[in-house]
Amino acid sequence: MKTPVTVLGLGAMGTALARAFLAAGHPTTVWNRTPGRSPELDALGATRAATAADAAAASPLVVVCLLVDATVRTALDGLDLTGRTVVNLTNSTPEQSRATAERLASAGASYLDGGIMAVPPMIGTPGAFIFYSGPQDVFEQHRPALEVLARPAYVGTDPGLAALYDIALLSGMYGLFGGAQHALALITSANIPAADFTQQFLLPWLTAMLTSIPNMARQLDNGPVDTADSNLAMQSAAYENLVTTAQKQGVDPSLLTPMGELLRRAVAAGHEDEGLSALVGLLRTAG
Ligand code: NDP
Repeated sequence: MKTPVTVLGLGAMGTALARAFLAAGHPTTVWNRTPGRSPELDALGATRAATAADAAAASPLVVVCLLVDATVRTALDGLDLTGRTVVNLTNSTPEQSRATAERLASAGASYLDGGIMAVPPMIGTPGAFIFYSGPQDVFEQHRPALEVLARPAYVGTDPGLAALYDIALLSGMYGLFGGAQHALALITSANIPAADFTQQFLLPWLTAMLTSIPNMARQLDNGPVDTADSNLAMQSAAYENLVTTAQKQGVDPSLLTPMGELLRRAVAAGHEDEGLSALVGLLRTAG
């Protein structure tokens, strides 16, 4: 008998999670604020609960996947969760996750926080992984059920850690997408077809440049930063042309300008002979 599970939230992601549990043979109870969402789950054997309280009472393992932290509070506050393990996969900040852990401890629950690194169609496939943080024994106890969703990556007892890892990866992703979007805006401003440019040049270039990231990380871990082939003085000087070209092509440079300012700050602070890893230190002093 597989662990009975409850899924709170049947948006695109909650539905994918419920489908994966059902496919693996877990008795699965579902609840959603708006009733009747994702009717295909009924044919797969899901049990619908009328309220979040009924749903939480149905299973020892309660997986929450709602829109934002405030939604989680609305759905869970006031519920008796004695003896339940709540796994919250809703996107959150580390502070929100720690606060949820405290509230749920008061409600009698064990708590794991999670960050899903997948889009819904990836759930249950090898490419998906999910960060978890919270008590390790609780994670190990529920690992077999959680493995059904995606490869679990346990990152520590502090409940805020999964959110920190998640937000770090999303931040990297949006930076990459922002760069690609700006490149495509430049190219299409000259009526060059985007798809060919992407296949022939953008993807190979970005893929080649990604290989410099592990070197950047090694320099951060081991220091000191060595003299770079592509030093910051050269990069800062050349960067002016990125902004000027955007303006001349009628492309909004707002995704580019913060990096130009950071490069100038780095040179002014004496990092002109160093490489891009020196910028990480400057970013860390900004808060
Ligand atoms: P959706 O917008 O598809 O679904 C949102 C869910 O939250 C619905 O179940 C909705 O219920 C519920 N909800 C919203 N407001 C409330 C409220 N006030 N009270 C109760 N329930 C509420 O989002 P996803 O399913 O895509 O995302 C869910 C979580 O998963 C988010 O935190 C998201 O960041 C995260 N995630 C999503 C990914 C994706 O690619 N989709 C990838 C990785 C993480 P109702 O049907 O009643 O509106």
